Amino acid sequence: MKLLCDHMLGSLAKWLRIFGHDTFYPDATMNDDRILRIAHDEKRLLLSRDKELLIRAKKTLVPVLEIQTTDLTAQLRQALKKIPLDEKLILTRCTLCNTPLRSIEKEGIKDKLPEKVFQTRNKFWVCPVCSKYYWMGTHYENMRKKINTLLQKE
Ligand SMILES: [Zn+2]
Repeated sequence: MKLLCDHMLGSLAKWLRIFGHDTFYPDATMNDDRILRIAHDEKRLLLSRDKELLIRAKKTLVPVLEIQTTDLTAQLRQALKKIPLDEKLILTRCTLCNTPLRSIEKEGIKDKLPEKVFQTRNKFWVCPVCSKYYWMGTHYENMRKKINTLLQKE
């Protein structure tokens, strides 16, 4: 399922990308008309807390998930009820720009990585658009802990 988060849901958008979902996040200058147009044309589920935007989305038949809280953990729990987590997709997409990641041989990027990371990790990915590197380090482990917490029954 393709997604679109409104301006108020930047952290949620980042997490949905970590989960591997194609998640559009508008830049600051993008107005509601344009956001609704993209959601409609690209068949994206609109996640929003903006009442006015949600009413307009329903009128233009854009599917919506109304986010009811400002708390990120609660937002994620709400999103996961509607958009199931697929383990295979976790960490397959750039959190900055939404592009699917490519795996990359570590020998080729030795000078781009911290020494300790190069020595202790073996699998690496790169975003072909913004050249950000990804690996399963402590950041990844913390992320997994957060996901496991989210998946626990309330
Ligand atoms: Zn990127």
